[in-house]
Amino acid sequence: MHELSICQGLLRQVQKIATENNARSVERIRIRVGGLSGVEPSLLDHAFEIARAGTIASAAELEIEDGPVVVKCQECGASSAVPSNRLVCQYCGEWRVNVTEGEELLLLSVEIET
Ligand SMILES: [Zn+2]
Repeated sequence: MHELSICQGLLRQVQKIATENNARSVERIRIRVGGLSGVEPSLLDHAFEIARAGTIASAAELEIEDGPVVVKCQECGASSAVPSNRLVCQYCGEWRVNVTEGEELLLLSVEIET
């Protein structure tokens, strides 16, 4: 399960942050999931409940924020936010674009209890 390994990677980062800050527990984890990351938020949520067991984040809430999809046009050079199923330049309609945002999964913040 793809989402489970993502959660485990995430929890390793969270564990590191918690240790560095002498946390007793982790309350909340906020992440941003890009529209092209291939990650299904509902599956991620479910995988997180499994992955968090026995970790410092065993009672933590996972907040998932949808990240924008941004493309940069190869023709006119403009950057535009687009729907993930329509990757064309919003200014000139060009389809030769580079995705500059949307494939990432970012850890935004970790709330801890010390
Ligand atoms: Zn363009």
